[in-house]
Amino acid sequence: MIPVIALVGRPNVGKSTMFNRLTRTRDAIVANHAGLTRDRKYGEGRVGDHRFMLIDTGGISGEEEGIDSEMANQSLQAMDEADIVLFMVSARDGLLAADHLIAKQLRQRGKRVYLVVNKIDGHDPDMALAPFFELGLGEVFATTATHGRGVTSMMEEVLEQLPAPEPITEAQPKGIKMAIVGRPNVGKSTLVNRMLGEERVIVYDHPGTTRDSVYIQYERFDKPYTIIDTAGVRRRKNVSATVEKFSIVKTLQAIDDANVVILVIDAQEGIVEQDLHLMGTVIDAGRALVIALNKWDGLDEAHKKFVKNELDRRLRFVDFANTHFISALHGTGVGNLYKSVEEAYHSATDKLSTSFLTQVLQDAISEHQPPMINGRRIKLRYAHAGGSNPPIIVIHGNQTAKVPAHYVRYLEKTYRRALNLRGTPVRVVFKSSD
Ligand code: GDP
Ligand code: GDP
Repeated sequence: MIPVIALVGRPNVGKSTMFNRLTRTRDAIVANHAGLTRDRKYGEGRVGDHRFMLIDTGGISGEEEGIDSEMANQSLQAMDEADIVLFMVSARDGLLAADHLIAKQLRQRGKRVYLVVNKIDGHDPDMALAPFFELGLGEVFATTATHGRGVTSMMEEVLEQLPAPEPITEAQPKGIKMAIVGRPNVGKSTLVNRMLGEERVIVYDHPGTTRDSVYIQYERFDKPYTIIDTAGVRRRKNVSATVEKFSIVKTLQAIDDANVVILVIDAQEGIVEQDLHLMGTVIDAGRALVIALNKWDGLDEAHKKFVKNELDRRLRFVDFANTHFISALHGTGVGNLYKSVEEAYHSATDKLSTSFLTQVLQDAISEHQPPMINGRRIKLRYAHAGGSNPPIIVIHGNQTAKVPAHYVRYLEKTYRRALNLRGTPVRVVFKSSD
């Protein structure tokens, strides 16, 4: 499981700057909660071989009231879900009362905390760090988030110290792993219950933190499937009340660990920003995708037409995924999801032969030559598979760093068609021999 790191601190200490430096997520997921002055952001980062999920918790001062205390609660939830907290302070401001209050909150929660003294630029590091040792929070790092100084070495050390994940000794759940994800109240629990129906289920409740999803294995027509339950249908025994039913961390981890994501959208509400963000995350993660427009019952014809138009307009970027109109409540259309799940899974994981991939490449090139760069034509020679779920196609040639984006898209489209890929993103990457 990918570790979760939360950035915590007063407003203005440099959390966003740090977040942007550490994440490569194209489009960070933003959790908007009505009325909050600042949103939490979720993104994914990588340092060396370590991947991690990063949360910018928004600013807290530790003494919020009213609307601010609501925001602070959101930040505290994010903190609870994290494996590691990076507590950021500012060398420019020195140690303030609010820092003490936040430190107290962190100590009470017994989290693995590192103190990050940011804005160290223009300061003598030893002098700047000294006052903060008073917080008594263990290891202290000095950074300049704006220029990246100290950031990579800090992350290496922090990630290095993560305890190894508990070895899983029990049997692993079998079959295609499907994550059922979506905003609160779209009908995930109803759908999970409907899919499980009367099936005999085995619940895998691996040791882990309360934020982890439960894995439910069952059989349908003698085939095993596993649902990664983000909706809390089969709740963990030790789930604490402080972890909300809907958790973005849980959702992102489920996406990360799934073969196929079933993204549930509430047709009666229509497509909203957070649905699109979730879709973007599924694509970034390279996961196979099936879209379920739920609550299709209770829509009149005009409304159905409107929703279908919205789909055409706003979901063009996921036109590789099948869309189903279902009613989890009545069971209508639910069985049909499996056909798309199977198709997406096979598209995402079937073996691809080097000779076929190379043949497709050569056909694509004879149809459309790659462009000339400085009087020399880009040469693409052969292709082979570089991974699955998502399928990755590695193309070898010369000057491959110069292949223009439109030509990459052309190759992706050609492969998608030739391999008959449905329901999965596909990635074309290059290896240069010059
Ligand atoms: P947040 O409110 O904690 O997310 O803080 P921001 O990331 O928005 O940063 C607040 C301000 O501090 C911005 O103007 C940043 O450019 C600036 N800033 C962030 N990190 C550094 C740093 O390491 N050094 C300096 N000099 N300024 C910084
Ligand atoms: P979750 O938060 O995504 O797990 O959503 P729930 O499964 O708890 O459903 C939220 C509400 O939507 C409940 O009142 C359900 O009865 C209702 N609901 C779920 N699926 C459907 C559906 O297909 N049609 C209708 N009309 N209501 C549904």
